[in-house]
Amino acid sequence: MATIRATCAECGDVEMTSDDVVVRVCVDTGAGTYTFRCPECRVAMAKDAEPRVVELLIASGVKLHRWHLPAELDEIRVGKPISHDDLLDFHRLLTDETRLEAELGRMVEG
Ligand SMILES: [Zn+2]
Repeated sequence: MATIRATCAECGDVEMTSDDVVVRVCVDTGAGTYTFRCPECRVAMAKDAEPRVVELLIASGVKLHRWHLPAELDEIRVGKPISHDDLLDFHRLLTDETRLEAELGRMVEG
């Protein structure tokens, strides 16, 4: 188990083991980060990682987590963006139990 040195925003340079760090790489963009919980203040940290840092951490025994961008990013959007008024209308609709039940029933029935 390798010793990993990282920098906590509050505590400065800290040391931990490779089991305390996770490397995350986005399969779609190739962007890499590493995450850890500071061994001194326990704050969770996430830092950008260049490809050579990702390779070094993986070679040191750090776990690799690959992830994909959410599929919603590929959805085609139509209409105007949601406004503050739209959110207020939605909130009012959610408090109308009769209408909510009717709308949910309509969704379930298709
Ligand atoms: Zn800290």
